Amino acid sequence: MIMICPVCGKEFEGKGRKRFCSPVCQMKGSRQTRKEWEQKTGYLEKLRESRRIQRAEESEAKRNEAEKARKKHHRAEKQRDRRAETREQKARQKRAEKGDYYALMDIAQEDGDMLSYWKYYKLEELAFCKSMGKDSTRKVNGIPVQDEDFEIKVIETIKRFGEIQATVK
Ligand SMILES: [Zn+2]
Repeated sequence: MIMICPVCGKEFEGKGRKRFCSPVCQMKGSRQTRKEWEQKTGYLEKLRESRRIQRAEESEAKRNEAEKARKKHHRAEKQRDRRAETREQKARQKRAEKGDYYALMDIAQEDGDMLSYWKYYKLEELAFCKSMGKDSTRKVNGIPVQDEDFEIKVIETIKRFGEIQATVK
């Protein structure tokens, strides 16, 4: 039976279920059939869509992972900071208990206890000058540190003038 090859249009002797003239045309033909099937069923679009969804899910998972790692890192950092702060506070507390005026001033200032702050300021200055064997000439807002009411007067002048001026003659 003479048949016409649907790929190249050549006539050939058809035998059985043979539809193409040669193996090359058969390959081209089955490729064509596959292509038509893909177009008819929307196969490639579906494949592309499912790959797109898969990629989106993967990058979402990656983002979540990175966010989790970032938060964990941040938590650890904060904890380290808190520990360091606590260590620092403890060390300062110890210095204060030993009578370190700078530590006492820091703590008083943090507590908003300015009366104690200026009292320790005075005591530190007097202790330092005594250790140097001399009298202090320091004044804050015009108030000499030797003044019995130094801390009260300093706070009053700060309230009145709103500034601090320390002078040493
Ligand atoms: Zn052919």
